[in-house]
Amino acid sequence: MTPTAAPKGVAVLGSTGSIGTTALRVLDRQRERFRVTALTANSNGALLREQARLFSPTFVGMVESSTDSDAAWKSGTDALIAAATRDDVDIVLNAIVGAAGLDATLAALESGKRVALANKETLVIAGDLVKAACASGSGEVVPVDSEHSAILQCITGHPASQVRRVVLTASGGPFRDWSKDRLAFATVEDALRHPTWQMGRKVTIDSATLANKALEVIEAHFLFGLSYDRIEVVVHPQSVVHSFVEFIDGSVVAQMSVPTMELPVLYALTHPERVPDDGVPTFDPVKLSPMTFEPVDHERFPALRLGISAGEAGGAAPAVFNAANESAVAAFLAGKIAFADIPRGIASALEELGGMPAGTREQLLAADSAGRQHVKEMFKC
Ligand code: NAD
Ligand code: MG
Repeated sequence: MTPTAAPKGVAVLGSTGSIGTTALRVLDRQRERFRVTALTANSNGALLREQARLFSPTFVGMVESSTDSDAAWKSGTDALIAAATRDDVDIVLNAIVGAAGLDATLAALESGKRVALANKETLVIAGDLVKAACASGSGEVVPVDSEHSAILQCITGHPASQVRRVVLTASGGPFRDWSKDRLAFATVEDALRHPTWQMGRKVTIDSATLANKALEVIEAHFLFGLSYDRIEVVVHPQSVVHSFVEFIDGSVVAQMSVPTMELPVLYALTHPERVPDDGVPTFDPVKLSPMTFEPVDHERFPALRLGISAGEAGGAAPAVFNAANESAVAAFLAGKIAFADIPRGIASALEELGGMPAGTREQLLAADSAGRQHVKEMFKC
């Protein structure tokens, strides 16, 4: 990828969020190779306007039109599809949070784009549909999630048949050493205090419950075609090793860096190539020491096992897991339910709805809305 080739057009969906703003920092340094041709956000018109001023995209969309909007911007959810399918877009960086990102991913793949995917919920809800959309055309998914980027970086150049298993690392979140009794009284403020990553609110709560790691196990299953017994999780509080890949000869390869999402974002844009970039602090193993690893405590963090079981069950179960989690996290953030209610809500939704039909997008969306409704009714919120 030489800078002399024409810059590739990039649409950043969710440009005002944590990953979106991280991506724009990377893209600002890489203007010779990439041009931001489309930006979308949900409702932060002031930041979107500032980003549009800095990058001069040919398309801007804001889902919720408000007094903050500009007359030239497109509004409504159609704006996401329009941005994702434009002719001047080669890569769609999907940094939308939650199920709202699904249709844009599918539309981008059907239009033959590379989807640099941070929106892991897309794969959890509709992994089979995403795989089918990739197989039917020239679209492809390249992960932005740091663990999956690490795996991709380790396996690139090796056939899938040489991979024995992968081990995803998990920081353990802010409650890693809290007792079960103390966890019952965890506040929103406690849960938002993540030790190693600065992220959006929803994924920060997911990291505190370990539901995030469950979503990531399912994401790894669909991205790399691995059965669930070949995907493991280990707690690594320093977030320096982003994942391990064990090959069939027993050799283990890991990818490391200081904890930053800038590197996985850049790699998702350039894979399988690498380009010069000096935006990230130098790796210093002495400063980053010690690096430690511990097992997951499933009793204190039941959401991980619930999600893995949903993945193994397949069908609508992962979509129900995701929807119940999104609904419960929103209720927790609004102060309506306790921290321990999040996995309770998920377990109950899965028990009741995990077997719903899941063959089509419409059936998956029906499972999604039933999962949300179940949690709302259960907690009367
Ligand atoms: P965030 O809340 O900071 O940002 C979300 C973005 O999505 C915002 O730009 C918002 O405007 C947009 N958005 C929200 N609801 C929308 C809707 N209904 N329609 C259209 N756009 C909408 O979230 P984030 O932390 O940047 O996370 C984004 C995604 O990336 C999530 O799926 C998350 O799990 C994943 N991820 C995040 C990190 C991280 O470090 N933040 C790391 C790995 C993966
Ligand atoms: Mg991750």
